[in-house]
Amino acid sequence: MKVSIVGIGYVGLVSGACLAEVGHTCICVDNDLSKIKRIRDGESPIHEDGLAPMLKRLVGSRLTASADLRAAVLETELTLIAVGTPFGGDRIDLSYIRQVASDIGHALKHKDTYHVIAVKSTVVPGTTDDVVRPILEEASGKRAGTDFGLGMNPEFLTEGVAIQDFMRPDRIVLGGIDDRTIDVLGSLYAPFVGVPIVRTNNKTAEMIKYASNAVLATLISFSNEIGNLCQTLGGVDGAEVMAGVHEAHYFTPTLADGSRVRAPISAFLWPGCGFGGSCLPKDVRALAAHGRLHGQPMDVLDAVMKVNESQPARIIRLLEEHLGSLAGRHVCVLGLAFKPDTDDVRESPAIPMVNALIERGAVVSAYDPAAEGTARAVLPLGKVTFPGRLEDAVNGVDALVLVTRWEEFRRLPTLIAAMANPPLLVDGRRMLDKHELPRYAGIGL
Ligand code: NAD
Repeated sequence: MKVSIVGIGYVGLVSGACLAEVGHTCICVDNDLSKIKRIRDGESPIHEDGLAPMLKRLVGSRLTASADLRAAVLETELTLIAVGTPFGGDRIDLSYIRQVASDIGHALKHKDTYHVIAVKSTVVPGTTDDVVRPILEEASGKRAGTDFGLGMNPEFLTEGVAIQDFMRPDRIVLGGIDDRTIDVLGSLYAPFVGVPIVRTNNKTAEMIKYASNAVLATLISFSNEIGNLCQTLGGVDGAEVMAGVHEAHYFTPTLADGSRVRAPISAFLWPGCGFGGSCLPKDVRALAAHGRLHGQPMDVLDAVMKVNESQPARIIRLLEEHLGSLAGRHVCVLGLAFKPDTDDVRESPAIPMVNALIERGAVVSAYDPAAEGTARAVLPLGKVTFPGRLEDAVNGVDALVLVTRWEEFRRLPTLIAAMANPPLLVDGRRMLDKHELPRYAGIGL
């Protein structure tokens, strides 16, 4: 099948590469010419495990990158929209979606065969039918359902394991205005044999994506609230509490042979310094705002964000409890990416943490195995040093703050054990064994 994908971001590029991998011909379109150039050179503009070799193999054959959206629409049967949908302050910002819908509509004017457009970006319920459809119809002078199909195909990939998630999805949600649209989308995913397919309308597809993200965010903030209470009460460790909660059969079911298996959802029930990234915070905010706009207060989701936004400050308080004033104290932040295995620092709790440390006069350094480059672009120039290696990061500092669960940080107990003056380690993810470090403070402890 010939597919065009608009937006060469984490979702658009990974989708394009994976769909090309399973045999489709994909044209990835973006208005950022530097991204197009990098892809044409066989390079990946983002850090994502397994993506670079795939691009090397596929670019120039089944995968091409282009800035010409009109040509891409004319040459393909299906267009996926994968541009960003940031939170605009009081509601979702659909300006990129509107622009692309208008561009696709103008391209459709020059096409006389049936074409399907599907929104892959995360958009609030109603967007595909009430925003995208009228723009497409007006710009093209054509009718949805007759001249073109309109669908919604949310993406569930997680950065860091995006290729694996896309190639082995747990479900594929196909929304559409009619069966014909959903059938075309069904052909796109035909190579993903055995994966459960949810066929539904566009609004339900949009809501499935939000509900999926909101439940994870809710579990994280719930665990953080419990952790915060444990920390306040004293004598009770939030991580031990959650480990006890995990033993319930809901989280660790017993299989027929008597063995027990930990459900991945448990990972979200653990104290930490909060969630970040390009999706959870903006999606929770957008859904809550969308509810309010329609007269439906979203009290739980408002509280989820409130708890989340206060977590970085708790780390600073922990540091102050142990070190006193932070002025002149050397603190190294370990992990800048919002999660391991990615270079994405969007809404990472590490960023407000670094800024708060600078504000308090601390001497700040930071280490991240992949996200140093992206973090440099958002951190105040000249105020943070980057040691570049974990061995160097731990040396000569008063405290280390672990923010991202990079596997490399499991080496910390060994590295610190060899030091004459070990620094305080503040574990913002409760990742390390508190008994293995001479000076340990953890969130929820
Ligand atoms: P991104 O910001 O990484 O990429 C968006 C791309 O769209 C950019 O390259 C930008 O240049 C391009 N773009 C913007 N306007 C354009 C236009 N008019 N014409 C052509 N290109 C244009 O975004 P992302 O992280 O890939 O997210 C895209 C969507 O997918 C969002 O709605 C997001 O919520 C959703 N999503 C993201 C993830 C994730 O892990 N990143 C997972 C699931 C869903």
